Amino acid sequence: MATFKEFRNNVKPNWCPGCGDFSIQAAIQRAAANVGLEPEQLAVISGIGCSGRISGYINAYGFHGIHGRVLPIAQGVKLANRELTVIASGGDGDGFAIGMGHTVHAIRRNLNVTYIVMDNQIYGLTKGQTSPRSAEGFKTKSTPEGSIESTLSPLEIAMSAGATFVAQSFSSDLKQLTSLIEQGIKHEGFSLINVFSPCVTFNKINTYDWFKENIVSLEQFPEYDPSNRVLAMNKIMETNGMLTGLIYQNTTRKSYEDLVTGFKHEGLAKQDMMITPEEFDKL
Ligand code: SF4
Ligand code: MG
Repeated sequence: MATFKEFRNNVKPNWCPGCGDFSIQAAIQRAAANVGLEPEQLAVISGIGCSGRISGYINAYGFHGIHGRVLPIAQGVKLANRELTVIASGGDGDGFAIGMGHTVHAIRRNLNVTYIVMDNQIYGLTKGQTSPRSAEGFKTKSTPEGSIESTLSPLEIAMSAGATFVAQSFSSDLKQLTSLIEQGIKHEGFSLINVFSPCVTFNKINTYDWFKENIVSLEQFPEYDPSNRVLAMNKIMETNGMLTGLIYQNTTRKSYEDLVTGFKHEGLAKQDMMITPEEFDKL
């Protein structure tokens, strides 16, 4: 069985020292090892942004896609080879701005893909512009007088789009994050894990200390029931979206793969890779 070190490759991440994305990479590697995967059983698909580099840093199949298109690629990979565990990863700008249409429809489609968003509430790679996750009043070069748009709540959107797995974590909480990624991988359906990942270079508001002061961990509510959709939505709204932990999981709804007749057991992945035109006609 592979150890988490076997999910490392020899490429040195070039994130800024202190960037939250380092911990997210470590958590993915640990979770992959903990659920018993081998590197050749995992595909990491990423978008554009600082976070998008992650697919090049993990010893697994990888695809560094284009801006906002992480999920179409990830779903395509899963459809082509359902034996793979597919992790999609990108930033808040990638997934919740240009890619939001794909995010909503991937959520309601419910393919067995784990989507990890590295949410630093800013555009980091392009040197610090306001993102859909930035707070109202947030000042950057793109909003020098402060953002006048409301902040997007990905958790509320995911819940209303019919998500079957919604979780949130903080890059500093490696134990919780690793456990949530493991649960997301095991979940039969689409799992959204939004991760607060501080951008130490450009976001001087949402710092490690700011997150520590503002996060509300579900560990404070031992009676919390993550299968209760109404409760989950209420809790997200009550905490202004700062809730961390497993917020919602629906284990009764079938995944996309399970609803397509014959898809799971009779498809291409279990057949020889060389398919003749005659064989193709019989598929
Ligand atoms: Fe991380 Fe921000 Fe540096 Fe990008 S610019 S690597 S998000 S700290
Ligand atoms: Mg960002």
